[in-house]
Amino acid sequence: MIKRNILLNPGPSTTTDSVKMAQVVPDICPREREFADMMKDLRSDLLKIVHANPDEYTSVLFCGSGTINIDVCINSLLPEGKKILVVNNGAYSSRAAEICEYYGLPYIDLKFPIDQLPDLEVIEKTLSDNPDIALVHTTHNETGTGILNPIKEIGALAHKYNAVFTVDTTSTFAMRPINVHDDNIDFCMASAQKGLMAMTGLSFIVGKTSIIEASKNYPKRSYYCNLYMQYDFFERTGEMHFTPPVQTIYATRQALNEYFQEGEKAKWERHTRVFNAIHAGLDELGFKDVIKREWQAGLVVSVIYPDDPNWDFIKVHDYCYKRGFTIYPGKISNTNTFRLCALGAIDESDINDFFVVLKEALKHFNISIPIKYN
Ligand SMILES: *Cc1c(COP(=O)(O)O)cnc(C)c1O
Repeated sequence: MIKRNILLNPGPSTTTDSVKMAQVVPDICPREREFADMMKDLRSDLLKIVHANPDEYTSVLFCGSGTINIDVCINSLLPEGKKILVVNNGAYSSRAAEICEYYGLPYIDLKFPIDQLPDLEVIEKTLSDNPDIALVHTTHNETGTGILNPIKEIGALAHKYNAVFTVDTTSTFAMRPINVHDDNIDFCMASAQKGLMAMTGLSFIVGKTSIIEASKNYPKRSYYCNLYMQYDFFERTGEMHFTPPVQTIYATRQALNEYFQEGEKAKWERHTRVFNAIHAGLDELGFKDVIKREWQAGLVVSVIYPDDPNWDFIKVHDYCYKRGFTIYPGKISNTNTFRLCALGAIDESDINDFFVVLKEALKHFNISIPIKYN
C-alpha cells in the first residue's frame, strides 16, 4: 500500500496505485521490438483522445516535461523569413514568447490582461496587418489563472490567414474533451503527468503529418528538440531518437488503459464534480476567485489571498501538506493568489476531506472565517 496524497497543484497529479505499480517491470532495452510495439499503440491512442484522424494527424513523443513541447513546436514549425504570433493572456503563453526570444525568432507578443479573454478583433487585425505570420500559438487553459481561451475561434482566424495553429493543451488534454478537427487545431500537446494521470518525463505532440513533413526543409534551430527529426526517426524505426523514459512509458500505457476504461465523458464529469466541490468549499469559507466563473476552464481555481493579518500561505500549506493535501502558490505577478486544481485520480469526497483540513488550518492560525477582504 502506497500512501495516497491528494495533489491539488496543477500537475503532476494524483495517480492510481495501478499506474504507480506499472513502472515496476523487468529490465528491458528500449530498442527491443516489444518496446517499440508498445510505443506504436501509445502513439495511436494519443490520437484517439483528441479524435484525430490517423490519416491526417500523427503523434510524436519526447523525453522531457511539458515545456519541451512548446519549445519543439515553436522552433521547428516556422519557415525561413516568417513570423510567429503569440496570443498571450497568461504565464504559459509568455513562456512561448520567451522561447521565440531565446531562439531569436521574429514574433509578435500580443498581450491581453491575464483575467480577460483575448480580443478576436485585435487578433484578426494583427493577422491582416502582418501577412508574414506563419504560426499562431496560444494556450487552451492558462494554468496560471484557470481561464479558458477560445481556441476554436483563434484557430479559425489563423487558418483564414494561412497560418499554422499550435495550442498548448497541457492542462486540458485528456481532461476537457478536445476534437482537433472541430477545434481547428493543427498541433496540440501535453505531458503524461497531467490529464493522463501518469508519471513525469514523457511529453507528446499531436499534429498534422503534412505540416511536419513540410517542416523537413525549415531551418533547424535545435538538435535535441526538432519535431521533424523525432517524427522521422519514429516513422523509420518505431523508436525514440534518444533514450526514452522507459518506466514512465509503462506507466503511461497503464494510464491510457484506465483513461479509456473510465471514458472521456465520465472522466470530464468527475473533474467537473471535483471542480464544483472546490468552488462550493471556497464559497462556504468566503474565498474569492480571480477569474469570472463562466470563463474558467473547469480545472484550476486561482484564489485571492485574504486580507487577514494572520494569513500566511506557507503555514497553511504546511498544515495541509502534513495531512496529505498539497495546495499550490499562484502564478500572477501583481496579485497574491494560490491555486486549487481538479486534476488527477481524485473525486468529490477528497475535496470534502480537504476542506475539513483547510478549515481546521484557518482556525488553528486564527484566520477569520468567513475570509476577510478589504
Ligand atoms: C504544466 C504546463 C506546462 C508544462 O510545464 P512543465 O513544468 O514543463 O511540465 C505547459 N503548459 C501548460 C499550460 C501547463 O499547464
